[in-house]
Amino acid sequence: MKDRSAYAANIAEVLGGDHGAKVPYPIGLQEVEVIRTVEVGSALLRITFGGPDLASFHSYVPDEHVRLIFPCADGVLRLPERDGASLEWGTPRPVSREYTVRRHSIPDGELDIDFAIHPGGLASDWASTVTPGTKVHIAGPPGGVVVPDSYDRYLLAGDITALPAIARWLERMPRTASGWAFIEVTDADEQIAIDAPDGVEVRWLHRGAAEAGTSDILEQAVRTVEVAAGQRVYAWVAGEAGCLRGIRKVVRNDLGIGPKDSLIAGYWKRGVADFDREE
Ligand SMILES: Cc1cc2nc3c(=O)[nH]c(=O)nc-3n(C[C@H](O)[C@H](O)[C@H](O)COP(=O)(O)OP(=O)(O)OC[C@H]3O[C@@H](n4cnc5c(N)ncnc54)[C@H](O)[C@@H]3O)c2cc1C
Repeated sequence: MKDRSAYAANIAEVLGGDHGAKVPYPIGLQEVEVIRTVEVGSALLRITFGGPDLASFHSYVPDEHVRLIFPCADGVLRLPERDGASLEWGTPRPVSREYTVRRHSIPDGELDIDFAIHPGGLASDWASTVTPGTKVHIAGPPGGVVVPDSYDRYLLAGDITALPAIARWLERMPRTASGWAFIEVTDADEQIAIDAPDGVEVRWLHRGAAEAGTSDILEQAVRTVEVAAGQRVYAWVAGEAGCLRGIRKVVRNDLGIGPKDSLIAGYWKRGVADFDREE
């Protein structure tokens, strides 16, 4: 791994500043091995990865993702090429899917990723059938969304695909932090234990029989937020791209939170495989 000082300084600068920002890191490419799988609630499958390549993996903030790389439709595993601090993906482009770094433990040499299991997904199908000892390549993280602890309140909202990042955020926030965490799930079986600061209201929103990516309950919850005059709020929202359109308007227009103080990212889109993230 390259000299860490440059981007470590960038992370420190953003943490000490007034606004959140994306900080790029040198992008790694590692071959990792499945160590174990465990259900986390009824909707997420946690896969713990290990192996010697993880020694060069790095992770610093709650919002970081990696790309898992799978064989192309013709069965050939194509990998990106290392190109200095970045990766060259080439043509035909390797097949990959983006997932959040849920936990990285240097002492244990382990990386956890939580997969939402859904019908007809390449990565989801792989995760639900994979066995210990299976190897897979991961690329990233290409950087992280770094957010100072100095905001008055934090608004975190998302569906099951955003839950890994929201849980990591809540676990790592200062215990004095306050705000709201709205998480859309099907029902109580999908809820997981989260170690959140007392001042953060964690509200589980049950979608019930509605299909994933069709409900506006997340938007309705965000509409209940009231920001007191003079308070600085950071908003982080992720989930199905179509569901975020209304939320984006509420965050921007009603709550008056601008792009420097928010990240609103479409993590998947109904009917679209390998959706290219939308912000
Ligand atoms: C930065 C980032 C971080 C992410 N982190 C995570 C994470 O930690 N955990 C996680 O589970 N996902 C995460 N996602 C979302 C994940 O990348 C997508 O859901 C992806 O499409 C899953 O790939 P797949 O191969 O299973 O499905 P695809 O082959 O991409 O899609 C096949 C079909 O399944 C549908 N689909 C995709 N995802 C879902 C879903 N969740 N529920 C219902 N239908 C779906 C698609 O609309 C499509 O019709 C993240 C996305 C981004 C951009």
